Amino acid sequence: LRANFSVIQKETGFVNGLITVLHDITEQEKIDMERREFVANVSHELRTPLTTMRSYLEALADGAWRDENIAPTFLNVTQTETERMIRLVNDLLQLSKMDSQEYELNFEFVEFNKFFTRIIDRFEMSKSQNVEFVRLLPEKSYYVDIDTDKLTQVIDNIISNALKYSPDGGNIRFGFTVHDNMLRVMISDDGMGIPKENVSRIFDRFYRVDRARARSMGGTGLGLAIAREMIETHGGKIWAESEEGQGTTIFFTLPYELDEAGDWE
Ligand code: ADP
Repeated sequence: LRANFSVIQKETGFVNGLITVLHDITEQEKIDMERREFVANVSHELRTPLTTMRSYLEALADGAWRDENIAPTFLNVTQTETERMIRLVNDLLQLSKMDSQEYELNFEFVEFNKFFTRIIDRFEMSKSQNVEFVRLLPEKSYYVDIDTDKLTQVIDNIISNALKYSPDGGNIRFGFTVHDNMLRVMISDDGMGIPKENVSRIFDRFYRVDRARARSMGGTGLGLAIAREMIETHGGKIWAESEEGQGTTIFFTLPYELDEAGDWE
């Protein structure tokens, strides 16, 4: 905290007041530091795929393009890296829009069970891993007023992570319950888990428990940061519980109504 003092003097020369202006420089410093860190992270995240691409393109230009066995692999790498950069830039644009409150939510009134089930079905149809999906969904109807595209993106991200970190033969459990007038949604895996001291940080921008590993899986490190922003603008909260070597559960809450008219029963 920094204080500026101004002395109020009367013409007589007597001091008859003191104005104290307190600036919370710690808050301002924190914002500046976060901004610097963010720019450094973005630069680093872009430099890595760019330097990878440069070496592969150099090798191709040096003659690897003639080698039928090598050339397709090298081109494939540059394509994967380009796609990751596009994902990263798209995520950054989305975050910056959210930061400047420049985006609108298109609210729709939907039955949550149906909405959630459709997303789970889509993943179950297309998954290539040997992972079993377990649904723990209530029979009752709960209506939520949500931007379905945004919420789909949130749930997609959580399920993709659960799949990424699930072992062969593992389970992913999907469920929701009601707590304190909110729907509490849970997606739980029995993957590698997250060390205790890092659990709350996974919602920070660019935070990854294992940088190299997460990056090699194609992640941008922004998925859960975007998810947190989106859930909070819907009036909910998002958090994780995890046990190293046991698995991770992501929870989020949403306000709900009990019937289609938006009334309580
Ligand atoms: P990424 O693009 O790296 O997946 P996210 O924001 O989605 O970024 O996740 C941030 C980090 O949180 C991941 O890199 C990973 O370390 C950790 N994480 C997220 N979900 C899980 C999970 N289900 N199991 C273990 N670790 C996870």
